[in-house]
Amino acid sequence: MAPMPSAYERLRAHLRETAVLSSCSRILGWDRETYLPRGATGLRADQTALLARLAHERRTSPALRDLLAEAREACPERDSPRAANVREAQREFERATRIPAALIEERARLTTLARQAWLDARAKRQFGIFLPWLGKIVQLCRDEAEALDPPGEAYDAHLDEYEPGATAKEIEAVLSPLRDALAALLRRVLASGKRLPDAPVRGDFPVEGQRRLSGRVLEAIGFDFSRGRTDLTAHAFCGGMGPFDVRLSSRFDPGFLVDGFFGTLHEGGHGLYEQGLDPDEFGMPCGTACSLGIHESQSRLWENLVGRSRAFWRHFLPAARKEFPDALRDVTPDALHGALNGIQPTFIRVDADELTYNLHICLRFDLERALLSGDLDATDLPQAWNDGFERLLGIRPAHDADGCLQDIHWSAGLVGYFPTYTLGNLYGAQIFERAREELGDLDAAFARGEFLPLRDWLREKIYRHGMRYPAKDLVARITGNPPSPRPLLTHLERRCAELYG
Ligand code: ZN
Repeated sequence: MAPMPSAYERLRAHLRETAVLSSCSRILGWDRETYLPRGATGLRADQTALLARLAHERRTSPALRDLLAEAREACPERDSPRAANVREAQREFERATRIPAALIEERARLTTLARQAWLDARAKRQFGIFLPWLGKIVQLCRDEAEALDPPGEAYDAHLDEYEPGATAKEIEAVLSPLRDALAALLRRVLASGKRLPDAPVRGDFPVEGQRRLSGRVLEAIGFDFSRGRTDLTAHAFCGGMGPFDVRLSSRFDPGFLVDGFFGTLHEGGHGLYEQGLDPDEFGMPCGTACSLGIHESQSRLWENLVGRSRAFWRHFLPAARKEFPDALRDVTPDALHGALNGIQPTFIRVDADELTYNLHICLRFDLERALLSGDLDATDLPQAWNDGFERLLGIRPAHDADGCLQDIHWSAGLVGYFPTYTLGNLYGAQIFERAREELGDLDAAFARGEFLPLRDWLREKIYRHGMRYPAKDLVARITGNPPSPRPLLTHLERRCAELYG
């Protein structure tokens, strides 16, 4: 007779099966964004609702509670992957069980309706249409935080979902100095009076050529097409079904090279992370990405630190010229570098440059934290937004569609999500600085088209660990220092000095 599997083995089997179930939801979600015929929308909603219910039952089941208790009892040394799996599975179980079913249903109902109101409000540029819904969303988030009962402020309960273990106070401690330094750097850039036109990347860039060029780049950075694919959608995203199946999607503008190309490279960075997770740990915390901030650090590292560098284009400009001979014929490497890295305050976050992007995030972090704590009433959001925006970026939105109504996040109940974007920039710069120290002359390697040493280094340092270490510990292990805004600032100061003098 075979020996009875241990509690830990049974826990693993339970977690793995839940992950298989969730991967079915994800593939259906991907299909909805890519190929689903319109007539099937209703059935698809039923399918995903059923799978979500089954997965929730598994995540909150008494059987799982018992397995966790047994596995905790028998858990060896604190630092092992096994201990991390038990620790993180316990954390997720508590999150899933502490929120009452009524609040889960309220969230599903409220966010569906709020999204509609938000779309309407944004189209009509009337904040008043969204205001009552925003009030309800904020109250829901407070109720959820109360149920989760974090040791610190309510905001931490939500942050913990995206950046496990992080607190608002810690985020503030890195964002505050970053905000001040970036605002000062922006003033210097604007005072230089220099403008870097993006004309070189506007013109005739047929979608097929952009797809081919992006595909070559994805291959060069090590995206494995036998375990993933790319498709066209309305919004770029990366859908991960574990390391075995990663779906990237892109959107291309035939008159503008930047959005589609860098969007694809960004999602490719997410994709490399997913493909580099440990297949033996599929469904376990150690086989799951560490946090949204770390995930974003990988997409932004490839997009901004690699893709917008001179060395990268030294290698890829000839291939790009072959695809777009007319548009790029007279474009010099310098003009291209300037066009890809110009700094200019704009109202819309998703169009923002590498520097001002983080100021957009600092503003959102302050505002959503104040909304949740009650320091800011939802009614006063537009005024607070516009004042804060003007203070940081020197321009004032003329209407709320260019201001507090531009992002989908709050209507979707995603409070605590925004800071992970800037954490990604910050972690990415700190990790990349270390990679430069350990891997030698990366620019020379990029210019030769060699990107795999960097991908392999990232796999070794980040991908294969999953959630074994909390994000800030992971960054400290890799770089020898806790997360700091310094490397990102150094990178941006260098780039601005090079481009603006
Ligand atoms: Zn991303």
